[in-house]
Amino acid sequence: MAETTVADVIVVGGGGAGLAAAAEAARLGRQVILLEKNPATGGSTSWSVGSITAINTPHQRQAGITDSADAHFEDMALHAGPLAPRDNLRLRRILVDHTAEMLDWLMSLGVVFVGPMPEPPHRCNRMHNVVPNSKSLAFHLTKHCRELGVDIRLNTASQRLLTENGKVVGVEARLPDGALHQFRARGGVVLAAGDYSNGRDLKARYASPDVVDVDAVNATATGDGHRMALELGATVVNGDIVRGPIMRFIPPTRANLIQQLPPVKPLARLIAWAMGHLPQWILRPFLMSFLTTALGPSPDLYKEGAVLINRHGERFTDELGKPNPDVAKQPGRMAWIVFDHNIAGKFSAWPHFISTAPGVAYAYLADYRRNRADIYHQSDTVAGLAASMGVPAAGLTRALAEYNASGRATRPALEQGPFYALGPVKSYVVFTDGGLKVTEQLEVVRGEDGVIPGLYAAGSTGQGGLLLEGHGHHLGWAFISGRIAGRNAAANVRA
Ligand SMILES: Cc1cc2nc3c(=O)[nH]c(=O)nc-3n(C[C@H](O)[C@H](O)[C@H](O)COP(=O)(O)OP(=O)(O)OC[C@H]3O[C@@H](n4cnc5c(N)ncnc54)[C@H](O)[C@@H]3O)c2cc1C
Repeated sequence: MAETTVADVIVVGGGGAGLAAAAEAARLGRQVILLEKNPATGGSTSWSVGSITAINTPHQRQAGITDSADAHFEDMALHAGPLAPRDNLRLRRILVDHTAEMLDWLMSLGVVFVGPMPEPPHRCNRMHNVVPNSKSLAFHLTKHCRELGVDIRLNTASQRLLTENGKVVGVEARLPDGALHQFRARGGVVLAAGDYSNGRDLKARYASPDVVDVDAVNATATGDGHRMALELGATVVNGDIVRGPIMRFIPPTRANLIQQLPPVKPLARLIAWAMGHLPQWILRPFLMSFLTTALGPSPDLYKEGAVLINRHGERFTDELGKPNPDVAKQPGRMAWIVFDHNIAGKFSAWPHFISTAPGVAYAYLADYRRNRADIYHQSDTVAGLAASMGVPAAGLTRALAEYNASGRATRPALEQGPFYALGPVKSYVVFTDGGLKVTEQLEVVRGEDGVIPGLYAAGSTGQGGLLLEGHGHHLGWAFISGRIAGRNAAANVRA
C-alpha cells in the first residue's frame, strides 16, 4: 500500500506552466507540492530559445510602439495561415489579453528581456528574448516557488491520477527510491507535464507516421500528462500538429558560451545593456556561439546544390523533396550536408546564410568553422572530406559522381574543390501542439461538455486546440495558462 502525503494543490511538472501554477497557488496561501520527474526543473522551457511574444511591455513603450490585444489577436491568425480555422479562439483571447501582465510578472521575479524584435506578419515588433539564456526562466521561477513555500519534489514521476466518485483527488507517483507514493490534493491537480514530442505511442495515435520514429529535442517530453488524463476520458485536440521533423546539427559536447552563463539578474542586465549599446562586431562572437549551436541549417543550402549524405557515404533523398523524415530513416538517424567551393562562397555572405534567429543575427560558413569545429569538415579532395566525416571514401566519391552525372534542372554540379561538409545533422521533433481539451478556467474536459472535477491542465498539456504558430507564443501560453490553472485549483480548495 503506497504511503500518502496531502496538500491543497498538486502540480505535475516543473516547466514554465507547472512552476507558474505552483507559484500562483502558493501566492494565494495554498500548500503546494510540485512533482518533477527529472533531476531539475525546466523541461522544454529550458530547451527553448527564450522568445516571448508580448504587447504593451516597457520594451514596446520605450521603442515608441503603440499596440493592442485586438491587433495581436488578428495577427496570430495570419501566423496560423491555413490552420487558422482550427484555432481555439477563446484560448487565443486569453493569451493575447495577458501577455503584458505575464511579462511584467516574469521581470518582477528577475527575468531580463531584450527587444522587441520584428517577426512578420506581426504588424509591429513584439518578440522579447530572455537573456542570458532560457534557463533563466526556470531558475527564477523555481527560486520564487521555493520562497513561497512550494514543496518541489525532484526525480518524482507521476504515473496515474487518483479518483474518488469521479473527482480527481491526487496522483500516484514513483519516488526517487522506486517506491510508489500517493500525493492527495484537497483542491485540485494541475497537469503541466509538457508535450509528447518523444511519446511514440501518442505520436502514432495522433500525428503523421513521418514523426513517430523521429527523436525529440527534449527526450523526456513523453506525454505523461496527456496519457494520465486520457485514461479518465479526456480528449486531445489538434494532436496532428507537430513542429518537425526539422534538421538541426548535433549538439556540441560542451555547452556554448551563452548556455554556460549563470542566469543571474546583474549579468542579464549587463548583457541587455550591451545588446542595446555595443557595436555588432563586439556582440557577434557571442551571438554566433548561440546561433551555431541552437539552430538548424537553412533549406536554401539544398536549393543552391548541397546534397545529403548518410553514414555509408550514400545520397539517399531528393533534398528538395521531404529530406527531414528521410534523414531520420538513415543509419544513426543522421546525415551530412555536402557541397563544393562554389556553394561555400555563396554561403559566406548575405543573402545566403546557413542559419538565423529571425531579426537577431545570421550565421555564415566561417561562423561554423570558428564555432563548431566538431561539425565542420573541409578538404581539397573528396577522399579527404570523407575521412574527415568518417564515411567511406568510395561511397562518397560515387555519390557525388552520380549526382554530377544526373540531369539536375536548376542545381549546379559539385566538382569545384575544396569540398565541404557540415554535420552530422539529425531530424528532430521540436514540439507537439496537441493539448487536452480544456475550458477557459483550464479545467480538463471529458466528453462533449462536462469537466473532470479537480483536474486542470496548463502549458502544452493544456493547449486545448490553441494554435501557437510563429515564435514566442508557446512560452507565453505556458506561463499564462499555468497561472490561471494554479489560481483555479487554489480556489477549489474550499469548494
Ligand atoms: C528547442 C526548442 C526551442 C523552443 N523555443 C521556443 C521559444 O523561443 N519560444 C516559445 O514560445 N516556445 C519555444 N519552444 C516551445 C516551449 O519551450 C514549450 O512549448 C514550453 O516550454 C512548454 O512549457 P510546459 O511547461 O508546458 O512544458 P515543459 O517546459 O516541457 O515542462 C514540463 C515538465 O513536466 C515534467 N514532467 C513530464 N512528465 C512528468 C511526470 N510524469 N511526472 C512529473 N513531471 C513530469 C517534465 O520533466 C518537465 O519538466 C521551444 C521548444 C523547444 C524544444
